[in-house]
Amino acid sequence: MEKKGILLVISGFSGAGKGTLVKKLMETYDEYALSVSMTTRAPREGEQEGVHYFFTDRERFEKTIAEDGLIEYAQYCGNYYGTPRAYVESQLARGSNVILEIEMQGALQIKQKIPEALLLFVTPPSAAELERRLVGRGTETPEVIAKRLARAYEESEGMDAYDYIVVNDVLEECVEEVHRLVDAARCEPIRRTEFIKEITEELKGFAKGAE
Ligand code: 5GP
Repeated sequence: MEKKGILLVISGFSGAGKGTLVKKLMETYDEYALSVSMTTRAPREGEQEGVHYFFTDRERFEKTIAEDGLIEYAQYCGNYYGTPRAYVESQLARGSNVILEIEMQGALQIKQKIPEALLLFVTPPSAAELERRLVGRGTETPEVIAKRLARAYEESEGMDAYDYIVVNDVLEECVEEVHRLVDAARCEPIRRTEFIKEITEELKGFAKGAE
């Protein structure tokens, strides 16, 4: 049976609780690995190089693009963000499910290039709850909150390109739901192509013997 892990793309509205969800998923199960992105945006207070992001400048980012070192990248609010290829490929090969917490443009690139990736979109139960969570954080001004809600409206138009929409109401239930979806995805034919090929070949041998 295929040992390769699943490439799990997680996007969602700002304020949907993606970060907490991913953290809890990683704490609860040991078969997940989190990809660390490369970005040209400046580190925020408390962010560490190689933990939250690999921080770099535009020149080095573009060099990495030219060398095909990223499996996807996008510009978001004037900065580049991208997923380094090497870590993702090595973790998938050793059987870990690799999580990419990325925005929609990058998610759609992944879907095109790697059809067997699993795309999840995380949302709160309602727009009112999204607003409540953004206000509740207490870290953003009303203008920023209004911008994030406007962006959420734009992003809602792309939600149907995802494989699953995951409603994050009660965190623990949401973590279990994501894990169940990943488990079920493993059995889909698109992720069992090697197995299908092998067993078909073996059966061909038997069929020939019976001729
Ligand atoms: P932030 O600057 O708030 O850390 O991230 C801004 C947005 O960029 C978030 O939606 C985040 O999910 C997304 N993002 C982070 N890393 C990547 C990446 O490697 N590729 C893409 N396409 N988006 C990313």
